[in-house]
Amino acid sequence: MLKLQQLARGSQRICLNLLTPGLKVTRFQFHLKKMEFSREKRLKARLAGDRRGDLYPHSLQFYLQPPTENISLAEFENFAIDRLKLLKVVENLGVSYVKGSDEYKSRLEREIRKLKFPFRALVEDDYDARRKDHISHFILRLAYCQSEDLRRWFIQQEMDLFRYRFNELNGDLVEKFLKYVNLSYGAISKEVKEKLAVQLLNSTPGLSGAKVEELEFYKLTARSLPAVQSDERLQPLLNHLSHSYVGPDYSIQKNIGKISLEHIDALSVKSFPLCMRQLHKALRDNHHLRHGGRMQYGLFLKGIGLTLEQALQFWKSEFIKGKVDADKFDKGYAYSIRHNYGKEGKRTDYTPFSCMKIILSNPPSPGDYHGCPFRHSDPELLKQKLQSYKIPPTGITQILELVKGMHYQLACQKYFQLTQDVDDIGFSLNHPNQYFAESQKLLSGGREVKKEPSEPESSQQKLSSQKSTNSCSIPISSNTEADTELEGLDAYFTED
Ligand code: SF4
Repeated sequence: MLKLQQLARGSQRICLNLLTPGLKVTRFQFHLKKMEFSREKRLKARLAGDRRGDLYPHSLQFYLQPPTENISLAEFENFAIDRLKLLKVVENLGVSYVKGSDEYKSRLEREIRKLKFPFRALVEDDYDARRKDHISHFILRLAYCQSEDLRRWFIQQEMDLFRYRFNELNGDLVEKFLKYVNLSYGAISKEVKEKLAVQLLNSTPGLSGAKVEELEFYKLTARSLPAVQSDERLQPLLNHLSHSYVGPDYSIQKNIGKISLEHIDALSVKSFPLCMRQLHKALRDNHHLRHGGRMQYGLFLKGIGLTLEQALQFWKSEFIKGKVDADKFDKGYAYSIRHNYGKEGKRTDYTPFSCMKIILSNPPSPGDYHGCPFRHSDPELLKQKLQSYKIPPTGITQILELVKGMHYQLACQKYFQLTQDVDDIGFSLNHPNQYFAESQKLLSGGREVKKEPSEPESSQQKLSSQKSTNSCSIPISSNTEADTELEGLDAYFTED
């Protein structure tokens, strides 16, 4: 059990061993400094029985008080994951639709309802949703305060979410909320509203003249939002949550045997995200990848279905074309490949890296090809690369705009949309293997990729028979076409 109350005390360090079955993150570390809350404001209500209503009298919160209850680790994790999902949707919608538009609102409403967060205060006794909203906000607040980038991202999404929910409240509830959070902002009078109608109209996006008359405007209300931004309690606390991935576990070997080595070149063009396409190209060109690249690309290939035998064959056949002879490969590199498959060392079945992990950790140095090109490439280089991949100029501009706004995964989604020629990609990207799976689903018309008949053969047998006998139902156009596309790519990659 995690006692959240501890988080509210100053200068504490809490180490938790998360032993929940199936949980990949094994330890969260919390470093807490200076979380000072006024005693007067601290809520005295405990989470029990008839006091529940006292604790969350309103569906919307300013999150002034940290949670003070004990919660299970499973609940802690679930709350965090759901809020992260919600904030990702908020981000996604915020760059895909005009904020406040009907489409934006209806999609956001759907997600809020689906994830069971409070919505429009329709239910008075909405305790569970309000509690989840409260606790999950604080968990992510702590997790996303580790760096300026993370903090800015979190605040932006929370502000958008707050703005949406606030605007959905009716007049009575707005008044109740302002009173509840001690904001004594009075609505401006009808006369003042008429006098300021033009200014109000111009300063409120998406508002028509008729609506100015209908809406209530509050004096100085906009200043309440920066108060959230300048909250000094935001201190670096959670090291792992902001990096953690919350989708399917792609280390599960359900894809094993679905990939033929002879199709990887074509797949890298058709279905690999840019990060993996870049790594594949660099490997083919240089017959070598450094450790970071081998880890990122090797685990991705494992996730799409390469068996250990195939992986050994794949890497060996490429490396021995370069400076590494077969003996050196067998003695050195083969170990780390077996290690990735959990056959050496601690025998951990390593999980392919998520976008978050790739974007936030181990940035590439010169001569490295790992990382996320949307995050780690020079924008001009990225632009040239996209041009060489025949992305239309308007698409490149959109991608670069998203990159500029630090929406790297959304830039990647746009790349997916343009390369797969779809209007709406229909998923929120979190993982390179998810990108691959979704692309394959699309190319196969939504059908699951059929599994190849698995034959128990040795790596040597595979090595000799791969080219002639392996078949694969993976939907690719043809090797020739893909090869031509690959040949058309510029050589952006140089060895040290
Ligand atoms: Fe790869 Fe994710 Fe970056 Fe796309 S957003 S290039 S999948 S790391």
